[in-house]
Amino acid sequence: MNIGMIGLGQMGEPMALNLLKAGHQLLLCDINASAVERVVVAGQGQAQAIATPKEIAEMAPNYIISMLPSSPHVQEVYLGEQGLLMGKLSKATFFIDCSTIDPKVSRLVREAAGHSGLAMVDAPVSGGTGAAKDGTLTFMVGGTDAEFAQVKPILELMGKNIVHCGPSGNGQVAKVANNMLLAVTMIGVSEAMCLGTQLGMDPTVLAGIINTSSGRCWSSDTYNPYPGVNPNAPASRDYQGGFSNQLMLKDVMLATEAAKAVNQPTPLASLAQVVYQTIYNQGLGDLDFSSVIKLFQKN
Ligand code: NAD
Repeated sequence: MNIGMIGLGQMGEPMALNLLKAGHQLLLCDINASAVERVVVAGQGQAQAIATPKEIAEMAPNYIISMLPSSPHVQEVYLGEQGLLMGKLSKATFFIDCSTIDPKVSRLVREAAGHSGLAMVDAPVSGGTGAAKDGTLTFMVGGTDAEFAQVKPILELMGKNIVHCGPSGNGQVAKVANNMLLAVTMIGVSEAMCLGTQLGMDPTVLAGIINTSSGRCWSSDTYNPYPGVNPNAPASRDYQGGFSNQLMLKDVMLATEAAKAVNQPTPLASLAQVVYQTIYNQGLGDLDFSSVIKLFQKN
């Protein structure tokens, strides 16, 4: 099949590599030319660079997948002057947006695609860069039953759990709720690891206790913020790669904004927003979000 892929960052690149592995032909676009070049080289003739989203859409691939940082990027890529919905479109193309964005924006873009007679689902992911590489992501899909049935086989090439969350935008709702919790658990694990080590515990022994006790969570057992505890986690490589503080701040803000719209109290999310804003303001926006532990470490 022909698949367009727009956004080849921390997540988009390994997802594209899994589609190549499954034998598909890729049409690639990213404003970062070196990211595109890496996948073109890996594709050995199976992948080509295309200048704009509009040109990709005009080439009428079966699917177009977007994996972009946030709502404004998705609006630009779909609705901008050189956007996917601006060219001559084939009704056979199916859009899948895997970015984490505002559910309202997701529904708006889906409506615009619908006006052009095209199908679209929101399918944000969970699992991090490790799961993107291993093809074990969780996809949270918003769309009709028929749309879900159509995208499931493609998403299975990149993920292990493909979940239908309800109508358009509900994939984003699930994702925002999950990441609000992740933001909070990472801060909690950071505090616990700092407290325990300050009081004399070995960090690996402490993490082992937490991970076989009631404090266990993904932030403690898979993505521990303390350097050296999980050798494959960003904490063990100076917080490079992974999921940036900037993107986590965006997700917590999506959660607090969505909460306001329905008068739902989310006090810990509000506190987490202040914490991630603080680390972002310190110039550490590009580091993985587990670097939030730096706010609690004593020199
Ligand atoms: P990233 O910043 O590493 O990658 C985004 C890519 O989009 C970059 O290569 C950038 O150049 C490209 N891009 C931006 N604007 C563009 C445009 N107008 N046209 C074409 N390309 C454009 O981000 P990421 O970490 O890959 O995250 C992508 C999305 O997935 C985000 O919404 C994030 O919240 C979500 N997410 C990330 C992780 C993670 O662990 N990194 C996990 C789950 C979900």
